[in-house]
Amino acid sequence: MSKACIIGWPVAHSRSPLIHGYWLSKYNISGSYEKQPVRPEEVEAFLRGMQARGFQGCNVTLPHKEAAFACAVRKEPAARAVGAANTLWFEDGELACDNTDGAGFMCHLAACAPGFDVGHCGAAAILGAGGAARAIVHAFLSAGVGEVRLFNRTRARAETVAAFFGPRVKACAWSELAERVGDAGILVNATTLGMEGGGGALALDLAALGARCVVADLVYVPLITPLLAAAQARGLTTVDGLGMLLHQAVPGFEKWFGVRPQVTSELRALLVADIERRTCS
Ligand code: NAP
Repeated sequence: MSKACIIGWPVAHSRSPLIHGYWLSKYNISGSYEKQPVRPEEVEAFLRGMQARGFQGCNVTLPHKEAAFACAVRKEPAARAVGAANTLWFEDGELACDNTDGAGFMCHLAACAPGFDVGHCGAAAILGAGGAARAIVHAFLSAGVGEVRLFNRTRARAETVAAFFGPRVKACAWSELAERVGDAGILVNATTLGMEGGGGALALDLAALGARCVVADLVYVPLITPLLAAAQARGLTTVDGLGMLLHQAVPGFEKWFGVRPQVTSELRALLVADIERRTCS
């Protein structure tokens, strides 16, 4: 029986077991996917002993993504670009890692905005400069974007990211947001603003956006964030964070269980119901 897990501290909130459990059942695979609470000081030891305990690999959530990246011997380009890993597996006995957030985002973007080409959209505006923002920057650069404008509350962090990725990425002041998004083909919220339970509100007047701007939010609780609701009210194409969560899970499942799973509307409905249930309780 194949085994995989998600490690984090805390990890109780994770919806990954719901996703992988759905696929295990759908593809009739004799396997398991469990939550493993791992304290920060225990990450390295857990990963070292993971294979001996029968795990094919794991997903990684906060705050272990950087530590997991550091522990891995083989690192995919996206993980190197982000400096953090969310998916680990073994290759020839060695721990390998990837960061599948950017690819997951791009899959869902393609589904929500067919015909949209980030390589020909002019500039992309990304709010945030944390791990998720770095994953999106890498995905956009790989897809040939002309320019990424990175707006972050702490500008120095945006400057660090811009310096890492090179001249196509410009660090911008948060206060310049309204005046520098008018020609953006896509705007992505990669901050915690808008998140249920303490993210704070994202104060952005969407009148500043062009009529064809695609608006994406990585936050998925609530599913329709205030940013997405405002964009929909303006008639703009929107991309929610749930699709990214679903698609980022695909490569890990394939590595551990040998089947490339589909993100189906049935799976999405399962997650939507879980979000609504937990939001209401
Ligand atoms: P992170 O590394 O902690 O970064 C958080 C970002 O939010 C930073 O840029 C931070 O700015 C900004 N921020 C926090 N509070 C703010 C405030 N009050 N005003 C303005 N900016 C604020 O987190 P992350 O891992 O990148 O995650 C970012 C978001 O993406 C989270 O909402 C997370 O849930 C979501 N996410 C979604 C998926 C998915 O599958 N949909 C995957 C990964 C992440 P400073 O630098 O100034 O602190």
